[in-house]
Amino acid sequence: MLTGKVALITGAARGIGRAIATGLAEHGAAVAVNYRTSEGAALELVKEIEAQGGEALLCRADVSDRGQVTAMIATIVDTWGGIDILVNNAGIMEDNFLVDITLEEWERVINVNLRGAFLCTQAVIPLLQARGGGRIINISSQAALAGSRRHVHYATAKAGLLGFTYSLAKELGPYGITVNAVSPGRIVTDMIKERMQGREEEWLQQTPLQRLGEPEEVAAAVVFLASEKASYITGTNLQVDGGLLMG
Ligand code: NAP
Repeated sequence: MLTGKVALITGAARGIGRAIATGLAEHGAAVAVNYRTSEGAALELVKEIEAQGGEALLCRADVSDRGQVTAMIATIVDTWGGIDILVNNAGIMEDNFLVDITLEEWERVINVNLRGAFLCTQAVIPLLQARGGGRIINISSQAALAGSRRHVHYATAKAGLLGFTYSLAKELGPYGITVNAVSPGRIVTDMIKERMQGREEEWLQQTPLQRLGEPEEVAAAVVFLASEKASYITGTNLQVDGGLLMG
């Protein structure tokens, strides 16, 4: 389904990004596995994909650093000649009431979640245009729409990603490039494992499907949006949240 396509997934060593990279590789895409600190896990993923007969490339870069993003994308182009699919998945969450958030913390959260998507996307657009089309998929969050106590910076960045998605879908439609967002609810990864402690029952009650999600369930939505089957879908936000937002 994605044979011959090249995908860059940011934050691909762990959690949702890892499941997305695996899912895209299983469908035939060559995947650039971006990581910042999790080198061992990223290398293990590359080996896993190669062992399954797929193609993968290890790409270290802090997505909030323009120089590192430029160098990463140059390496991908040197290796595979271009990019067809960009998944802006890298993200961080910190916990604080707004009154206690320092400027440094605010900028850290905004920079990874929002500036990172801006830098990666701006660098990739000419490559997608050169291919005559492509896919950009931004991982937002249910927090963008519902809000989240002690996460104003995170929710603000994720809401920004939705505006980014909708506006860019309008700009890039004429080039055959679709731009969509996927908004996970509560998915079992390192990001929420500690935050979940003591609250699991409450969280299950808030979720119509009465369970937390798996990274593979988010990846399935991303693989669909990256595929030909989603050829007429752009400017959407697909919630993968077990009904949490509605519930
Ligand atoms: P996670 O397990 O904490 O993984 C976060 C990933 O982001 C890691 O691979 C990390 O890479 C990468 N990352 C962080 N800062 C980076 C930077 N500056 N440059 C490059 N990569 C960076 O979190 P997750 O749950 O899989 O989250 C993935 C995405 O889903 C995030 O955007 C998150 O906001 C979103 N999301 C998650 C949930 C949930 O319930 N889990 C819900 C809604 C939205 P290294 O380990 O290499 O540093």
